[in-house]
Amino acid sequence: MTRDILAAARSRQADLIEGVRTLVEVESPSSDIEACRTCLATASTLIESWLGSPARITEHGGRPVLRWGPDHPRVLLLGHLDTVWPIGTLDRIPWAVDGDRMTGPGVFDMKVGVVQAIGAVALLGLDASSGVGLLFTTDEEIGSETSRAVIEDAARHADAVLVLEPSIEGQLKTARKGTSWYLVQINGRAAHAGLDPERGINALVEAADLVRDAVTWAQPDLGTTVTPTTARAGVTENTVPDSAVIGIDVRAWTAEEQQRIDDLARGWGPTHPEAGVAIIGGGINRPAMEQSAGAGLAQLAEECALRLGIEPIGSRAVGGASDGNFTAALGIPTLDGLGAVGDGAHADHEWASARAVPERTALVAALTAAILAGESA
Ligand SMILES: [Zn+2]
Repeated sequence: MTRDILAAARSRQADLIEGVRTLVEVESPSSDIEACRTCLATASTLIESWLGSPARITEHGGRPVLRWGPDHPRVLLLGHLDTVWPIGTLDRIPWAVDGDRMTGPGVFDMKVGVVQAIGAVALLGLDASSGVGLLFTTDEEIGSETSRAVIEDAARHADAVLVLEPSIEGQLKTARKGTSWYLVQINGRAAHAGLDPERGINALVEAADLVRDAVTWAQPDLGTTVTPTTARAGVTENTVPDSAVIGIDVRAWTAEEQQRIDDLARGWGPTHPEAGVAIIGGGINRPAMEQSAGAGLAQLAEECALRLGIEPIGSRAVGGASDGNFTAALGIPTLDGLGAVGDGAHADHEWASARAVPERTALVAALTAAILAGESA
């Protein structure tokens, strides 16, 4: 039975690649909501033609989300259709297939993954009441502020969440760092830099202290990084700046570490007693997806690979976060990296393997079937 899935997937290779082309050719940067709507509509057309029933596109906070299947599926196939590429990138990096390499904006991250999710459901011949759900969002690349609640609700009663983000060198992702970010405003007092600088409170100098302090919060042996990333201060060269804003990026393997940094960020105070400080943006964004969340599913995926007669997949922990972090934090078994094989997410050399598409689609199908059959590792 499982080997039949692989044969069926291979026989549909041309359709699968055509599906990828269709989605890549509809550009969908997160910032352009209208473009994202068009891309979801394109995905919906694909779903209706492959699965025989329509998807539902709903708006949340002015942003579209696509769903197919039950509201609370047993297996949730999760992905996003937004990309980091601005409209017009397609002119510079057009859709192309050169041997095994498919290129085009968002092909690897993660339009291939979306096609594989739809293709896996099609291979299994499942209908919309079968317990498998598809959920594709359009704000993953900008932190999933509006779709987070939708994802968490959809996953609430799931046996497993399979995330179709790209693989890492073909491997699955069983743990992901949590991400936090902070935008910290420091308020001082303006004064003439030549006439009476001593009457000012230099917000930039205070901000420099924050930058110096923040880097010491990192804990390299635990993998916790704290990276000051942006700085803005001052208006003219001859004025003591009365305001400075510092951006800080934080990554950590555990929720405890994210909390530790959050406490430090919120507890930080400037040296000058009259300077003010406020966190004006950010906080803990995606919680860490700890190793335990995906270990069992990764094992089951290896079992499926064996039955399919394909090479062992392998898995590892990675620094970047995804929407799988949200579902893992709810205690739902979550496995990520089931999407494209290739490289270059968010980079000009982004590409995805055409040969891997049927294999990966078959893997997702076999894993979904195994979970539905009550197998767990
Ligand atoms: Zn992605």
